Amino acid sequence: MHSRALVLFSGGQDSTTCLALALSKYDHVETVAFDYGQRHHVELQARLQVLAHIKAQFPQWAGKMGEDHLLDLSVLGQVSETSLTRDMVFKMEESGLPNTFVPGRNLLFLTLAAALAYRRNLEVIVTGVCETDFSGYPDCRDDTMKAMQLALSLGMDKRYLIETPLMWIDKAQTWQLAHQLGGQALVDLIVEDTHTCYLGDRVHRHAWGYGCGQCPACELRARGFERFIAQT
Ligand code: ZN
Repeated sequence: MHSRALVLFSGGQDSTTCLALALSKYDHVETVAFDYGQRHHVELQARLQVLAHIKAQFPQWAGKMGEDHLLDLSVLGQVSETSLTRDMVFKMEESGLPNTFVPGRNLLFLTLAAALAYRRNLEVIVTGVCETDFSGYPDCRDDTMKAMQLALSLGMDKRYLIETPLMWIDKAQTWQLAHQLGGQALVDLIVEDTHTCYLGDRVHRHAWGYGCGQCPACELRARGFERFIAQT
């Protein structure tokens, strides 16, 4: 049986829900994030707050929480030009992909996560990628994840399991999953502490959390939260 997991944890709603899921399933859970010169370090600050508050508010999980890793991936800013690494306005490209798409980003994340998991003896890699998301990033698709699981397992001669609990659910169901895992306390923590907004807005507080309320990430989070509330 699998017992040791590594969660790709950015400090957003999705990866926080994945972390809660891993903590409810596995004995030992470590976390990793990547610093690649995001336009704002709001996300990286948010994740430390989320970790601290989960530890403090969920004693049943606190003892399972292992090391948190932050890997420098500034090289990504050298090879790609997108609205997440440069100061650009969000828009859709002719390719049908949003200009927030960073080619190869998620493939690099998973490769580095697997290398770290190898050293730390962690066999499960949990990531909050999702096909039902608006963005349709090709490196978040189920087939890509399965191909990566195979490539990493073969290439490192170690059996990895890439777990994607959010792959086929929408944002309302992601809120619902958080509620199942950690009750209202976890929903409140996600609202207050996690960060999703592309613009790094921590000034405007809505029922669903902080954000500009306008960017695609805020819209998605807000609409999902509204539907979640309507269903409960
Ligand atoms: Zn926003």
